[in-house]
Amino acid sequence: MTEKCGVVGVSLDGRDAARPLYYALYALQHRGQESAGIVTHDGFQQHSHVDMGLVGDVFGEDDLDPLAGSAGIGHVRYPTAGSVDSSCAQPFSVSFKSGSLGLSHNGNLVNADEIRDELAALGHAFTSDGDTEVIAHDLARNLLEEDLVRAVKRTMGRIHGSYALTISHDDTVLGVRDPQGNRPLCIGELEDGYILASESAAIDTLDGDLVRDVRPGELVVLGEDGQGFDSYQLVEADNTAHCFFEHVYFARPDSVIDDTLVYEARRNLGRKLWAESGVETDVVMPVPDSGRAFASGYADAATETTADGEARDQDDDGVEFAEGLMKNRYVGRTFIMPTQDERERAVRLKLNPIKSTVEGKTVTLIDDSIVRGTTSTQLVQLLKDCGAEEVHMRIGAPEIVAPCYMGIDMATREELIASDKSVGEIRDAIDADSLAYLSTDAVADVLGKERIDLCLGCVTGEYPYDIEGEETDRDVHRPTLDGPTLSADD
Ligand code: SF4
Repeated sequence: MTEKCGVVGVSLDGRDAARPLYYALYALQHRGQESAGIVTHDGFQQHSHVDMGLVGDVFGEDDLDPLAGSAGIGHVRYPTAGSVDSSCAQPFSVSFKSGSLGLSHNGNLVNADEIRDELAALGHAFTSDGDTEVIAHDLARNLLEEDLVRAVKRTMGRIHGSYALTISHDDTVLGVRDPQGNRPLCIGELEDGYILASESAAIDTLDGDLVRDVRPGELVVLGEDGQGFDSYQLVEADNTAHCFFEHVYFARPDSVIDDTLVYEARRNLGRKLWAESGVETDVVMPVPDSGRAFASGYADAATETTADGEARDQDDDGVEFAEGLMKNRYVGRTFIMPTQDERERAVRLKLNPIKSTVEGKTVTLIDDSIVRGTTSTQLVQLLKDCGAEEVHMRIGAPEIVAPCYMGIDMATREELIASDKSVGEIRDAIDADSLAYLSTDAVADVLGKERIDLCLGCVTGEYPYDIEGEETDRDVHRPTLDGPTLSADD
């Protein structure tokens, strides 16, 4: 399962934006490792450097120095729509009659092809098959007839799907979140300006203060030279559709989303996991690093109550928390290994059990998800080979039964082990002594949301957007493209 993209935008008072953008992209590197880029504007012209690779590889001093201007946007990308080549690397930049545009997109449109066909018929020439270029062209067209705010509103009325955008229009920087707020985007205040970023960890990196999340359907326009920001609530939806996997998996644990520290959310999910499906074993251990916060919360809760929900006796310490699997930090993440054989080898390279923690013990292994089941199978086998008497798996999220169309590279339905297997069948397939997942109600409860305000598409098979061939969990429809969605008075 792969993170999608990270976006950032800054407007500063008299200081070049390139270096702060570069540091912010470093803070967002976990959200995309395929390409990185920065677009700035110096009041006269736009500057851009975009290339394939990690932030540290894409940018050297010689690349940052020419990026003049105190306003700009940045992007790290893992490809989710469009080809895996430099034509889809972002920010996407374009110059047109009324100025220049830069666009960074996190998410995925579900009606990009329809809009591309329509614009192509009007003479727009596309250089990539990505959906970001579609948004840029649509916005550029609207900017020929409308002011900036109305042009963005018109484009928002036409595109359907998941998006958190940072946009530069000449030296003005904007941030937009789709009406259901599927992907995160927040505003931060810096010593000499403002920043928009996918996660608050990027704001921390620049010694800034988190102001708040950008609201679903909101356009935020950063003031020139870092002077404040304006807010426009352009579109309202009845419900939000926040991706619950941001809290469970994608976001950095030190980021704050919806006023909650991601690390704390994960610990609380772990506590709930104990309450729902705790099992008394000698030791609880996380799959590093993904299961750590869940295991910590799970083990904490296990010191207070028994697996039956009774208060523990004073002389009963409950379940011991231990790090039983050591991670080799110099091995790449398994998801960049394209074949099954390579993925299997990667698990053995990445994790090594500590024999004294495992041998002769009953073990609960905690992780945040099971996608194909390959890693879980290998970990259970590793622990048993190391002398574990029993291995029980607990997962801090519900079963992933369906793919994601909102920008997560999650494997196909056929590859997802839970798409056609019951929990019992998965337990047998990974050879665990028991297996339990957290319920969707528990996720909603811990995140403090109604179920309908979360996207649960990959764990229910019902999506918050109108996706061809799939079920929806709410009353949503693709916009029709056969005419402007706004009247002249809107
Ligand atoms: S389908 Fe799953 S991963 Fe995709 S946006 Fe919804 S909750 Fe997130």
